[in-house]
Amino acid sequence: MTNTVRQGIEECYMYVTTPIYYPNDKPHLGHAYTTILADVISRWFSLLGYNVYFLTGTDEHGLKLQREADKRGVSTKEFVDQMAGVFKEYWKVLGIGYSRFIRTTEQEHEEVVKYAVSRLWDRGYIYPGKYKGWYCTACEKFYGEGEYIIENNTPVCPTHRRYLEYIEEDTYFLRLSLFKDQVIKLLREGSIVYPKHFSDEVLSKIESEGLQDLSIARPKSRVSWGIELPFDSRYVIYVWIDALLNYLTGLGYPKDMNRVERYWKNSVQLIGKDILWFHTAIWFALLAMLDLPPPNKLLVHSYLTVKGQKMGKSLGNVVSIDDMIKRYGNPEVVRFIIARIANYDKDVEVSWDVYDSIYTGDLLNNYGNLVRRATTLTIKTLNGRATRDLDGEFANTIDELKERSINLYNSFEISGAIKHALDILHETNAYINRREPWRTSRPNQTIYTVLEAIRIASLLFYPIMPVTVGGILNSIGLDRVGQGLEQFRLGYVDEYSVRESPIPFKKLQ
Ligand SMILES: [Zn+2]
Repeated sequence: MTNTVRQGIEECYMYVTTPIYYPNDKPHLGHAYTTILADVISRWFSLLGYNVYFLTGTDEHGLKLQREADKRGVSTKEFVDQMAGVFKEYWKVLGIGYSRFIRTTEQEHEEVVKYAVSRLWDRGYIYPGKYKGWYCTACEKFYGEGEYIIENNTPVCPTHRRYLEYIEEDTYFLRLSLFKDQVIKLLREGSIVYPKHFSDEVLSKIESEGLQDLSIARPKSRVSWGIELPFDSRYVIYVWIDALLNYLTGLGYPKDMNRVERYWKNSVQLIGKDILWFHTAIWFALLAMLDLPPPNKLLVHSYLTVKGQKMGKSLGNVVSIDDMIKRYGNPEVVRFIIARIANYDKDVEVSWDVYDSIYTGDLLNNYGNLVRRATTLTIKTLNGRATRDLDGEFANTIDELKERSINLYNSFEISGAIKHALDILHETNAYINRREPWRTSRPNQTIYTVLEAIRIASLLFYPIMPVTVGGILNSIGLDRVGQGLEQFRLGYVDEYSVRESPIPFKKLQ
């Protein structure tokens, strides 16, 4: 994988997306989870020299927002304007380096949605019909039999645990059923969805229930806050169709199809597993109807749970981003903790104990302590200067761990990549203990090698904690982080000039 990355990096484009979030309240750790992972992936590939375009934003239409604004006594537009600002503020604090923050109420996006839906209408993929069913306003989703829970003889949303509403209305349907075989083929033969078991999950749902045509219009009498259906002004477009198309708006569809193609070819879309169906069955079919291929990768992560339940506003078990930043005094620590526990496959149970042990074990005692030790040693024994003299044997150990970390990063396995970077630091701490450079008269080789190991681990942490790592590298005389893999070579630096012994992480109170 490393070699493929190395070749032809100049023409490497990558498109990284998060879902656009419902701004009905300030973002919580669940939002931060997906967004931090996307940002780390985006920063990793930028570090390798890719031209990365990173899109995030807010999903600003639909009944839920309309109701939330009503509740607060402001217009929906005022409400979403304010909340989009809140999301941007949080992402700024958390160092999310998006290329564009898209809002579905932007005129450009509304035009793209109308264009795409008109095109689907012209091609006969949309037809009028009647819809009846149980509907969750929080999910903005109809629930079929077997999908909802029954409480007090009434259907209840399995996600929100609130009563469903029975709705019957005239609507328009999108002919998803026409694309059933094509979607099945993509899920079965492609390697789009990662981890693969999520692909199998969707496959078995389609195989047992088919791929039903989807109601894509909502009467304005019920939902007024949306994009008008271009061929029938009594309706607005279903919020999920509106939302999914944001990924195309983000690239300049349909005005700049060269750009769309260039980035879409290497698109990496991150989602939580709760919106898997929309991002596979519906999204793949929708793209096919518009003559576009599916995304290159759909990375699906599981939930952060508190006492076994998904973290979510409606469940009231949200750990706030603010509390975490306050506790560790550095927003980049929040990024590190989240990236460290990230798991695509399985839900991760979180608690302050888990967070604290990562902070103390990985950052304070391992990384921070090693940086402190090595810089102090360099200043004391070498007057702060170490020149190139690599201990080849130890360098091999570091090299192996580094390669593993890089390979995991390249396959989007962030937490695994971090683990190997931490192993580099563990090995280096042990190496110092073994070599006791303070006892020898010629400590340069050991210290130079230790500084190289710290530099490599720091580069591996760079996408996660760019400012903190930048400061650490600065203290050992390295002013800037370059691009490309060459800088990951052991022995790359001629000379270290250690200026100070930083304390990058402070003991918890
Ligand atoms: Zn629901």
